[in-house]
Amino acid sequence: MKINSNFDNLVPNYLFAEIAKRVSDYQKNNPEKDIIRLGIGDVTLPLAPVVVEALKKGSEELGVKETFKGYPDYEGYEFVRQAIADYYGSFGVKVSADEILISDGAKSDCGNICDIFSKDNIVLVTDPVYPVYVDSNIMSGRKIIYADCNKDNNFTAMPDDSVHADIIYLCSPNNPTGAAYTLEQLKIWVNYALKNDAVILYDSAYEAFISDDLPRSIFAVEGARKCAIEFCSLSKTAGFTGTRCGYTVIPKELERDGHNIYKLWYRRQATKFNGVSWPVQCAAAAVFSDEGQKQIKENLSYYKENAKIIAEALDDAGIYYTGGKNSPYIWLECPNGMGSWEFFDLLLEKANVVGTPGAGFGKNGEGFFRLTSFGDREKTIEAVKRLKNLLNNI
Ligand code: PLP
Repeated sequence: MKINSNFDNLVPNYLFAEIAKRVSDYQKNNPEKDIIRLGIGDVTLPLAPVVVEALKKGSEELGVKETFKGYPDYEGYEFVRQAIADYYGSFGVKVSADEILISDGAKSDCGNICDIFSKDNIVLVTDPVYPVYVDSNIMSGRKIIYADCNKDNNFTAMPDDSVHADIIYLCSPNNPTGAAYTLEQLKIWVNYALKNDAVILYDSAYEAFISDDLPRSIFAVEGARKCAIEFCSLSKTAGFTGTRCGYTVIPKELERDGHNIYKLWYRRQATKFNGVSWPVQCAAAAVFSDEGQKQIKENLSYYKENAKIIAEALDDAGIYYTGGKNSPYIWLECPNGMGSWEFFDLLLEKANVVGTPGAGFGKNGEGFFRLTSFGDREKTIEAVKRLKNLLNNI
């Protein structure tokens, strides 16, 4: 018996374990200190009232013979897919309900999509990167190449025409950098993908944070329907990190290597996934109702205001950063040329604030640091006060 030896090629990811250890050691030695966490990647505000009502109603229906539901459709209930298609329409992007597949979240879809592609494909990711794209492809034994994001390109890497890739992961607005592509930039990626007969795997998990005139979907770009798959999620949009619901959009005309991609993904899901529960799909549909949109926007505005408070402090201190607008993430350059972990320790010890060292997201993350806006308002304000104080005194 042999295991999948590709697992030996995974680089152990100690990032969050190491953060937890350093924070716990510091707290043990300094029990009186009030530590504020500005590193959390999880939401903290509760589900919207209409979503909770839909969850309750859906659950009660499962307890009544006449309304009981068994296995859902593999691709998700039609009324949920239609609600999502209408949502795309609200920002001017045309996708149809039968191009949408409901899932338990974007993380699983971003990773599982690898099942339908040959292991001989070359995968391109931007660095720094959401680790799921890299690790899922290492597990399947694919070669990974990197497009560098740095200060020179404002953390929005563009394709290099001299390099070939078959699968391209793009995430905009980006985790961890908060940077978001413009329509013109995405058009360049789409043209590159078409030229290389590649497929773009577009993660739009943070599209709901966009307020500027930036694309909310890869399908806002002409030609994308012939080369892109989009993953989105209700995790950050509507606080579904624990409730679990996402969706993947595959245009019906997307073909590669003589195969229809939608059909392959449907076959993969029908084989290994039995769908999202009835109450959760009812809750998802409620997110896209008029009342749902109004209510989730209150939470999104709260996080966005937190992001603005952090970003303004960095503006005042003259620190370079990306994100903070159109994103819950703020990606800042560590002051005085410090390394990511060096700044982590300084911030923890001198300001009792915890963030995430950029080095944990790839080589281009060294010297950078991620703060998030998912915390409590009062704590964010206090953390920013301490951060400002620290930046003024180093
Ligand atoms: N994609 C990105 C870029 C993320 O940052 C996250 C969550 O942090 C996800 C996907 C995961 O989404 P889900 O909770 O739907 O699995």
